[in-house]
Amino acid sequence: SSVDQISCLVFPSLGRAFSSDASPSKPIRATLFPGDGIGPEIAESVKQVFNAAEVPIEWEEHFVADTVDPRTESFLTWESLESVRRNRVGLKGPMATPIGKGHRSLNLTLRKELGLYANVRPCHSLSGYKTRYDNVNLVTIRENTEGEYSGLEHQVVRGVVESLKIITRQASLRVAEYAFHYAKANGRQRVSAIHKANIMRKTDGLFLKCCREVAEKYPEITYEEVIIDNCCMMLVKNPSLFDVLVMPNLYGDIISDLCAGLIGGLGLTPSCNIGEGGIALAEAVHGSAPDIAGKNLANPTALLLSSVMMLRHLNLNDKADRIHNAILNTIAEGKYRTVDLGGTASTSDFTKALCDHL
Ligand code: NAD
Repeated sequence: SSVDQISCLVFPSLGRAFSSDASPSKPIRATLFPGDGIGPEIAESVKQVFNAAEVPIEWEEHFVADTVDPRTESFLTWESLESVRRNRVGLKGPMATPIGKGHRSLNLTLRKELGLYANVRPCHSLSGYKTRYDNVNLVTIRENTEGEYSGLEHQVVRGVVESLKIITRQASLRVAEYAFHYAKANGRQRVSAIHKANIMRKTDGLFLKCCREVAEKYPEITYEEVIIDNCCMMLVKNPSLFDVLVMPNLYGDIISDLCAGLIGGLGLTPSCNIGEGGIALAEAVHGSAPDIAGKNLANPTALLLSSVMMLRHLNLNDKADRIHNAILNTIAEGKYRTVDLGGTASTSDFTKALCDHL
């Protein structure tokens, strides 16, 4: 139904470059990173569903390596990055980051190396799965390359550390332009820039200035600015106050988890990373869930919905609709819900039920 339709024209102009005459004998190649923790289990679910729905995708599967690849300075191999650059489309499972020490974060490496500058996170109520809110339908767009996540941290003197928040005009304009472009292409009415410029005057101030500049080019879209603490309160009180939200990196990380909570949790929320040259790398919002990894307990819905975003980007809309409806119907039916949704189904039970609904 239209209420459940996730707006997934992640990059309409570039998405159209993919031909929809793909067929099982002429498949589209896409990169798949199963990732860490629950990643391989939920990636397996996507592969099974794609097989059952006869989706004309040929996966190039790449795993996180056991040793650091000096060319990427991380556990991601150069070949895996080349695969995404070549295919320009892929699906990624979660990748674990050790806290406080160790190698360069895999996610940061991917974002930097592939120029993944925006992360689009649609947050949509699932009919048939009741939460405190009905009809949540908003999209957070997160700047993905800088801010507090620039990776520039050091000790000044013993007992004092410093972390640099970098905001550039170039990255801010790029993500703002993307947010307005997305809003227009998906028939959305309002873009809210989320910030803390009252305190972070220089950094968030520049971010806002760039958003304002871009907003002037889109008179048909209502533009507003909301301070992040107020935004949290408004989201929890009445999520329908928002439509498209654009924000710097750290705020986007936090707000999108808050939004996931509005519709039933991290097991349900997809995303797509938008990169230079029209790269689209879809991934679930959640992490590797080490507490349930290897137990056949994970909810594969978030990664499956991410794969639906990928299919829409590829113009494979029939397949996207079919899988999307099967997900919604399986959850609505309620017989095979995973543990995070209050059910008892395993990852594989849910996947099997979903395939039966295709
Ligand atoms: P998490 O998202 O992995 O887990 C938070 C909670 O949600 C856990 O209780 C987990 O069991 C549950 N959960 C998450 N996904 C679920 C699913 N599909 N089905 C059922 N329950 C689910 O967050 P965390 O524990 O803070 O992070 C674990 C690791 O993941 C860390 O190393 C972190 O850096 C990494 N991480 C990676 C990404 C990414 O690759 N994009 C995103 C976030 C966190």
